[in-house]
Amino acid sequence: MQETITYSLVERRKNSEEYYNAVKAFAKEVLDKASESIGPDVNEFITYIKEFKLEEVRKTEEYILELISFGILWYTYGNAALEVKHAPFITLSRMAEWRKKHQKLKQAIDLFRGIMTTLVLLPKKERTTEINLPTIEQIDKVCSWFEATGEFREEALRFIRWRAFWSTIGHDRFEQKLKSIALFTRWFESRSLEVLGDYTQNVESFIEKSQSRYRWREDRISCTRTRLEYHLNMVGAEIMNLAFREDFVNTEITSVLVPGCMRGRPFEECKAVKVKEGLKCQGCLPKCKVNQLREMGKRNNFDVYIIPHASDLTLWAPKPGRQRQGVIASACVTTLVEGGWELKRYGVPAQCVLLDYSGCKKHWHRDGFPTQLNVHELKRILNSKSSMNACL
Ligand code: SF4
Repeated sequence: MQETITYSLVERRKNSEEYYNAVKAFAKEVLDKASESIGPDVNEFITYIKEFKLEEVRKTEEYILELISFGILWYTYGNAALEVKHAPFITLSRMAEWRKKHQKLKQAIDLFRGIMTTLVLLPKKERTTEINLPTIEQIDKVCSWFEATGEFREEALRFIRWRAFWSTIGHDRFEQKLKSIALFTRWFESRSLEVLGDYTQNVESFIEKSQSRYRWREDRISCTRTRLEYHLNMVGAEIMNLAFREDFVNTEITSVLVPGCMRGRPFEECKAVKVKEGLKCQGCLPKCKVNQLREMGKRNNFDVYIIPHASDLTLWAPKPGRQRQGVIASACVTTLVEGGWELKRYGVPAQCVLLDYSGCKKHWHRDGFPTQLNVHELKRILNSKSSMNACL
């Protein structure tokens, strides 16, 4: 059994099946509860989107997840964001994009972003005061901050639409809606701790121990996410899978994207070769989890690619004249949902499977250790594609 850094879906368990049963049931509970409390607001927002033709209307679950995310991220970062009086928000947000497109510049950009995150985006240590409901102007500011961090760009792009809607409904109704979101956030905080807290027991002690280690690093925000955010992302991954499934099952080919930390050998010894999609395993180690997925893919008609964290995901977007590609992506709790939103924005039908625990050398552990995903969950997703039913 590997050391648990922040979360583990398998600690004291044979595998992560118990987690998947729990999180699926909880995602349903969250959606039911949300439909009662913030559901009418979501319906109003959908009507607004249709009226102004802002986008092709997506699944209701996606809008619910956006509102839940707004409540939790405002609660978590609202005060810190509002304390920032001056910052090069636009430059920082562009840099977060450049590092994906220009891998050669990534190291230099990350160095700069790490310093700027601590100097200008997180000047105070902790959130100390009670959080209030935001005003429209504060939502503008917090969205600029979210984009500048590079961690919440996808959420910010979606919150800006909500903000546009809220600005049309008058102060009293706006305040009433924000109160419902705040109430829901409180409920989610306590209920998610009951259901998912067993899997995230080390998050708080890790943050306490490691704050100084991440102080000038670009992954400071990503690696010091709160326990509440872990729970949001766990449920978020489930809700996304529900919302995106219909699109995914209608794709013709499947690729499974896994992070480099799943390799059984250190980076320098791994024999995977570079292709335009990422790295392709060459099967140098039978017990390597990537190799096992590659073998499974040969039998079941999917390709496996190792892709680095913060890769350019536009590569997976549908192209005219090509078969429609579905993607199953795996990553750790702190990054998976952001990637899911990004794939959605590029029109890629995606599903996600969490890593059972995190362990990469770059972000989490001094020496690093190989990570894994739940193969049963992967098979369930593959089986949801009717074309795959026959072969699994
Ligand atoms: S089996 Fe594949 S992914 Fe694993 S170390 Fe070898 S080449 Fe790399």
